[in-house]
Amino acid sequence: MIPQAFIDEIQARTDISEVISSYIPLKRAGRNFKALCPFHGEKTPSFLVSPQKQIFHCFGCGEGGGAIQFIMRYEKVTFVEAIEMLANRMGVEVPNWRGEKDKIKTVLYDVVQEACSFFHRNLLDAAASPVLTYLSKRNIGKEAVEKFCLGYAPGKNTLLNYLREKKFPLSVLEQASLVIGGSSGFRDFFVDRIIFPIGDVRSKVVGFGARMWQEKKDAPKYINSLETSIYSKRAHLFGLNFSKDDILKNDCAIIVEGYLDMITPFMAGVRNIAASLGTALTLEQIRLIKRYTANVVLIFDADPAGQRAALRALDPLLENDLKVKIVTMPPGFDPDSLVGTKGRDYFLERLAKKEDFFDYKMEVLSAASNIKTIEGKTRIAQEMLATLEKVNNEIERHEYIKKLAGRLGVSEEAVINEFKRGAAKNKDANLRRYGSGPAARGDQPLVSSASLSIAEKVLIKYMLTNKKALFLIKDNLLPADFTSAAASKVAAYFFSKAAAPEDFSLPKIIGAITDEEISRFVSKILMDEQIPCDKEFFRGSLMKLQRRRVLQAKAQLKEDIKQAEINGDRERLKDLMNKYAQVNSEVRNG
Ligand code: ZN
Repeated sequence: MIPQAFIDEIQARTDISEVISSYIPLKRAGRNFKALCPFHGEKTPSFLVSPQKQIFHCFGCGEGGGAIQFIMRYEKVTFVEAIEMLANRMGVEVPNWRGEKDKIKTVLYDVVQEACSFFHRNLLDAAASPVLTYLSKRNIGKEAVEKFCLGYAPGKNTLLNYLREKKFPLSVLEQASLVIGGSSGFRDFFVDRIIFPIGDVRSKVVGFGARMWQEKKDAPKYINSLETSIYSKRAHLFGLNFSKDDILKNDCAIIVEGYLDMITPFMAGVRNIAASLGTALTLEQIRLIKRYTANVVLIFDADPAGQRAALRALDPLLENDLKVKIVTMPPGFDPDSLVGTKGRDYFLERLAKKEDFFDYKMEVLSAASNIKTIEGKTRIAQEMLATLEKVNNEIERHEYIKKLAGRLGVSEEAVINEFKRGAAKNKDANLRRYGSGPAARGDQPLVSSASLSIAEKVLIKYMLTNKKALFLIKDNLLPADFTSAAASKVAAYFFSKAAAPEDFSLPKIIGAITDEEISRFVSKILMDEQIPCDKEFFRGSLMKLQRRRVLQAKAQLKEDIKQAEINGDRERLKDLMNKYAQVNSEVRNG
């Protein structure tokens, strides 16, 4: 980790209005600044920045937090990356906090970048002109070669020798998957291939894809860097570093399979596109996409292999709350060849015909089973329900179930019953989906403090602004004493941070919040000028929550006593009566 002292220093030197105004224009409004919120579309500003409190909050969409949280949301980076960005802005050197493992990573990034430049220069070299000619025949012109820094690997240990001259140890070359060892020593990993550098979202090259350019028997058309400590096929999407801004802007990501399927449309102006580099999307890749959008358009070939891949990709995407549309290519085409031969507009027309995942899967299934027969209906229903089960939004899911009933020509009730039967098989999923209220769901609804009682608001506000008050609350209440789930989450967070009073600082704790829900909640409470800041009110509120807990405990005890009486359990009864007397005296003394 970065030393805490360094984080503190960066935070102390950061001014939130300065940071945010470097991204969006801020207008002075009394003690605060106002702006159009960058996180949701709006025409009248509901985004406030308070220089006094060093926080921002949007009353439109609920985003909120400190300068670091702003950078995290705006730049889509992690907490540590945000600290590093702030440090860079200030011209402060980030201490070398990365451990041994990270030192190795740094060397790997360097060597891979060096190899990337080497490959690129080789492609532009006269000796590789047949390769360039081949590429241009495939519609990959000079511009694309430059943009994607495409390269050529001659092999014959040219890379090995070059990097050895640059003083990179052999072990590093091997760890970077640039050479492989064998009985006759180390040799180049990529031989006589076109090189596609794969970048992470910050455009750091992490690995390579390599394609044959002339037919050779017994050799695969594509090979990839082996897994290294900076590259994992599962964790990257090819081209995302170039397309992420357009994905964000369009609020939609087009996902294709291959390198050229990404490059050709991209160069033709379809810029919100990335390639999965494999058959099915992995969870890591899905999470990556989710940083930028919740809408995915999958492009697959029309053949059975493409259909299978599309169907496989569906469930994990839906399960992660992404909206999925599917586009199939005309038989015999992939995005690369379609754009190449029929042009961009034709491709866009095809894209416009995207189908909802539901219709797509229905079509594929109906082609395989006869929807008119009972067996066909049953099979289709089962397959469809397996996918609909992944849709987390209940309203949406219900709409799809209705639709399914209509298509199958059976009653909605029958489909719902079938769904419940399937869902019951998976108790986990069942609990999650049929659990009552938001608390049973993993994802909470957007925080609303409107439902909070004024007493709870006052306590939270005191807790966030007054160190003494925080410790007092911590000594007297439990997180569960707050009725709203968000408030008790915030309380639990601050209580846990308040363990060591010596070096406790509220701004530090607030600045270190990485949980989005807590961040939103905290900024909202801090911005709320309506919450009274009154000591009497504070004490009253504290007592109110304490009393509520005692009353609840009493009610529970009464219930237990009744049960013990019914059971004739005299030991337990005695015990409970004692407890009851104790609680009662606490109420009187408190
Ligand atoms: Zn907003």
